[in-house]
Amino acid sequence: MNPRTWFREKIDSLVSDEYLLGVEEHRWRSNLTFLMAFVLVLSLLMSPVYFFNHYTVDLVAGLITAGMSAFCLFLLHHLRRHEWPLYLFAVYLTFYSMFLMLFGAAAGFSVLWVLAYPLAVCFFLGNHFAQPYLTIQIASILILFSPLFDQWRTARYSLNFRLQFPIIFVAFSCLAMVVEHIHQRTGQKLIDMAKRFSASANQDQLTGLSNRRAFYDVIEREQARERRHRCGLQLIMCDIDWFKAINDRFGHQYGDRFLIHVAQLFKTGLRSEDYCFRWGGEEFLIVLPNTTVAGAVMVAERLRSAMTSTPLEDKHFGPISTTMSFGIHPFNMAQSVDENVAQADHCLYRAKQNGRNRIEHDMAEMLPTETVDS
Ligand code: GH3
Ligand code: MG
Ligand code: MG
Repeated sequence: MNPRTWFREKIDSLVSDEYLLGVEEHRWRSNLTFLMAFVLVLSLLMSPVYFFNHYTVDLVAGLITAGMSAFCLFLLHHLRRHEWPLYLFAVYLTFYSMFLMLFGAAAGFSVLWVLAYPLAVCFFLGNHFAQPYLTIQIASILILFSPLFDQWRTARYSLNFRLQFPIIFVAFSCLAMVVEHIHQRTGQKLIDMAKRFSASANQDQLTGLSNRRAFYDVIEREQARERRHRCGLQLIMCDIDWFKAINDRFGHQYGDRFLIHVAQLFKTGLRSEDYCFRWGGEEFLIVLPNTTVAGAVMVAERLRSAMTSTPLEDKHFGPISTTMSFGIHPFNMAQSVDENVAQADHCLYRAKQNGRNRIEHDMAEMLPTETVDS
């Protein structure tokens, strides 16, 4: 594969929709990947500098760091949880920076890249993780540069450097945390906005049910599940009977209230794993995963009788109810989604043709006693 295409695909997979929508696990995985890759590349870039200056200790430590970053990247992408690679990497980096401060042959020069830590840790892992980490880092800098370690430190620093470096590190840490705080707040606002847009794009404004667009996402997922488990997947298309008459008699606004009432009946009458979509004006599509045709007939019958027995109360018009017709079609994997929906619609049409307020399904031969007529 072309390296540019490969690189673009990798970045696309890291900055996925889930990442942009703030799914925590994706953010952590992507950010950790970036952080580890950053340290890996930085260590490799520094190697020639150390090599040509004969800083052997720094060169060896740098190459070990590159290897460790690669190992943590490998772990991150082969383990389900990201915590262990993160802790391993954090502990390693702490020891690595302590080692550089004590024994780095490049002394002041080598230790300068420790200044990249606050920026990288805050930016990639967020302030929540960075605060304790940077506190440990600051404490270790103060201790290792103190006279206590004079006899063990082989790296040569001037007194000025030892005084100024911790101050610069603290200043860098504070700056990185402030910038990250602002970045987080702006990011959170964008994430909230994206979540609102995404929810409203999939939701019917009037009834609060999912809409036709959401159906295609759901059915794709459920089809995959059905392919694996073969537990039965049912579609029920339903349509309110004589709804036009309700609109004509009581007005469009009352019609809207009636639709909300029906949606409420559906929400309370279905299991939490079932789905109900507002398919069109007063047409609803129900998806029942893990259900047989007989089960779907029972659900439809429950909803049909709830419709007739639960009128909408109105202080002007009194209690008003109507009936509903249902068409059940067991999802056929050999057909497309639209063909399956058309079959369910066809059953609904039959229910209308046969007198309304009834349930028709596609598997009459399997259920000789269960066709429910009103
Ligand atoms: P049938 O038993 O054959 O279904 O008769 P029906 O009167 O229900 O006929 P149909 O399904 O064709 O009628 C749909 C009506 O639903 C027509 C339209 O005015 C009304 N409708 C569609 N969307 C809305 C809506 O959002 N609010 C209201 N109040 N009415 C709607
Ligand atoms: Mg109708
Ligand atoms: Mg209709």
